[in-house]
Amino acid sequence: MQLSTVTDLNEQDAEVNRAHDRKLSCKGCGRTTTHLFQYDLCRDCLNQTFRRLIKVIDSVRK
Ligand SMILES: [Zn+2]
Repeated sequence: MQLSTVTDLNEQDAEVNRAHDRKLSCKGCGRTTTHLFQYDLCRDCLNQTFRRLIKVIDSVRK
């Protein structure tokens, strides 16, 4: 019973996210895009973020 309630809520969230998918602006560069990735970033900014993270991880390892 509880499990099905949670599933319903998740499906509603997915609907909202799809509706918002049309006009989004990247939090990194501010460019308007139809598709944002993790952290509200466009593909380019996400790639840069990953590169930064890799550098941080490498410096921690040393
Ligand atoms: Zn961007």
